[in-house]
Amino acid sequence: MQILSKSKLNAALDLLSRQAELFVPLARGEESGYYPWKSYQAGSDQLMLDALNVMLPPKGVVFPQTERIYSFTGNDKGVEIKESFENHDPRIIFGIRACDTAALDCFDDVFLTMGYVDSLYAARRENTTIIAHACYRPGDNCFCAAMGIDPTEPTKADVIIRDTGDAYIWESKTDKGDKLTAALSSLLEDREAAAPEMQAFKHQVDYEGVAEKLKDMFEHSIWDELSQTCQTCGICTYVCPSCYCFDIQVKSWGDEGYRFRCYDSCMYPEYTQMAGGHNPRGDSRERFRNRFLHKLEFFKERYGKPLCTGCGRCIVACPAGIDITQIIKQIKEADTSAGA
Ligand code: SF4
Ligand code: SF4
Repeated sequence: MQILSKSKLNAALDLLSRQAELFVPLARGEESGYYPWKSYQAGSDQLMLDALNVMLPPKGVVFPQTERIYSFTGNDKGVEIKESFENHDPRIIFGIRACDTAALDCFDDVFLTMGYVDSLYAARRENTTIIAHACYRPGDNCFCAAMGIDPTEPTKADVIIRDTGDAYIWESKTDKGDKLTAALSSLLEDREAAAPEMQAFKHQVDYEGVAEKLKDMFEHSIWDELSQTCQTCGICTYVCPSCYCFDIQVKSWGDEGYRFRCYDSCMYPEYTQMAGGHNPRGDSRERFRNRFLHKLEFFKERYGKPLCTGCGRCIVACPAGIDITQIIKQIKEADTSAGA
């Protein structure tokens, strides 16, 4: 068994940072998220490997908040694509939890399957190595297991690390993981260590049967009540590791310009605004209903899994106190007899 002693962690991060752009969970001022290790400022930043989840998920490593798609030149004689902006730079995400690797699994479904490959996403994803951090002590808002995820066995991981107290068990899972393991060989020790005991979830959530029940709840009155306090601020979509909606815009000057994409949120009225002015989801109740149907029903119908991985971030971030686990509970308990 290979072991990385915590006393060698910084040396390991320095070494990995020389292999590729290395993203680690950091608290930085009022924020926390995945930032490049090379930008780490001792004294003001704090490495958050012990925290279960930093507020901003690592999805930005493979799906940035804004990214250029291609540049062009054009005039009345025609348009020519000058350059496309697939980014093949190698990257490593260190310390990602199982809920967030499961969210990358959802991204892979959306951007790489069903007959369509998004080349921008594919380029980043192929060149990203994932060092996942197994969880044994679920936090106050964690409910990943209820959404079908084993927190101790993160999917899509190239390496899994397991915290034994003074060291990490280092388990390579793929060829990419083997390469990093070889690069770190001078820092890894070969000895036995025991993985921690899994502790019970504090938050009990029962998602069983919810997707099926929702099929008949599109017009249910429950959406009036559930959506009442939503401010449609969109924070829940920005902190969510599995929300992937984006808008495409163009920036041009003279005969040239570029197209770019940027995060969008189904909670915003403009999201479904048509050019002629009609909006099929014009009120907040309709947008709210869409968000939760997409998370809990539609995505499962298409890809066989929910689009919520139980990370709990939106529960913490929502200014209106809207809690997806309470929504699941209320859906479970809802009366669906005629007229409800
Ligand atoms: S964070 Fe809360 S208030 Fe804001 S859009 Fe999401 S559910 Fe609504
Ligand atoms: S919906 Fe909320 S709990 Fe579920 S994955 Fe997104 S942020 Fe996490």
